[in-house]
Amino acid sequence: MSSSVVCFRCGERYDDETRVRCACGQPLWFDTPDTDFTFSDDRDRDGMWRYESLLPIERPDGVARAAGGTPLVRSPGLDRAAGCRVYVKDESENPTGAYKDRGSAVAVSHAIEAGADVVGTISYGNMGISTAAHAASLGRECIVLVPDEIPQARLELIAQYEPSIVQVEGDYGALYADGVALSASHPISILVSDAPARISGYKTVVFEIYESLAPNTPDAIALPASSGGFASGVWRGLRDLAALDLLDELPRLYLVQTASADPITRAFDSGATEPTALSPEETEETIAHSIGNPDPPSGARALAAVRETNGAVVSVTDAEIRTAQRRFAVDGGFCVEPAAATPLAGLTRLSERGAIASNEEVVIVPTGTGFKERGTGDVPVSTERTSRSALPELLESLLDAR
Ligand SMILES: *Cc1c(COP(=O)(O)O)cnc(C)c1O
Ligand SMILES: [Zn+2]
Repeated sequence: MSSSVVCFRCGERYDDETRVRCACGQPLWFDTPDTDFTFSDDRDRDGMWRYESLLPIERPDGVARAAGGTPLVRSPGLDRAAGCRVYVKDESENPTGAYKDRGSAVAVSHAIEAGADVVGTISYGNMGISTAAHAASLGRECIVLVPDEIPQARLELIAQYEPSIVQVEGDYGALYADGVALSASHPISILVSDAPARISGYKTVVFEIYESLAPNTPDAIALPASSGGFASGVWRGLRDLAALDLLDELPRLYLVQTASADPITRAFDSGATEPTALSPEETEETIAHSIGNPDPPSGARALAAVRETNGAVVSVTDAEIRTAQRRFAVDGGFCVEPAAATPLAGLTRLSERGAIASNEEVVIVPTGTGFKERGTGDVPVSTERTSRSALPELLESLLDAR
């Protein structure tokens, strides 16, 4: 088991496993543990815990056991929209409906083991919901910091687990640094988007993809990026597999951002190694509310992942996201939230520009379920109406119209 965290950029190591950032400013993560893990190990474990020997904690009881272990589904109906052979890694099948549970399952227990009395997070979306659920499952108190203006429906999704919810006035984006500082000075661990133990949990998604596809391997993996935490986890997983000699060739990583707030895409296009924070004037509202971080704390690491794997970062508009969300449902049978539809929208763009060939096998990761937000008038609904006695006639006309 690993006992230090390391900087992806300068290689500096720290014994404090809860430390989030290096003195150089870049985020930290756990290195590949010193084990002789192979895919045949740990086969009888639940979900992501089959990879327990590669994680910094022993598997906890409770809802953490239900995290991960999501299906990888060959989905030929989506090939046309994507322009390649599509596999869907359906992260909506986590206990709170998003991949965040992989990170919370590891990070909440890890924080408690490291001595935190209380855990917390800064999120009014999936991370808030997930952290609250995993804390509740361990009987721990949780404090969720949300922005002052937050729709009631979002509050309810978090509040069902009964954490303390604090509405914070002012610049919500600036809270990341406050969270890191408050965790160092108080007996609370505020688990930010790229806390090292979260990244460890996220990497299990890659192990599952490789184990499911074996002996095949994907040509590319496409996922959304906001803080860059999930992208970091995916890259960490690939590096672990390479370090363990379980991977010959890296797949290309394609990260997809919303055009409404896309600092990582801008940095990629300009050849920069770090994103520049966007000002409020440079960002817009988007339907993809789970992504769109104007100052992504793991942005530099996400960029490094993309460059090292010969991938790309692309941005997609709300209109493209809506189309992809509809294709997911109509051609794939998947109900995904707008942010989770972006990898499909991104593939449409990438294959149109020739970056992906039609015979390539690409894994797309819809990161979160759409079931949390249906019923808000987003889906066009048309129905027929009939009396019982006229039903046979209506049915015949519907069948004839096919
Ligand atoms: C959090 C989230 C993302 C973005 O992940 P980052 O780790 O912040 O890059 C993407 N999709 C969904 C559904 C999310 O909840
Ligand atoms: Zn460093």
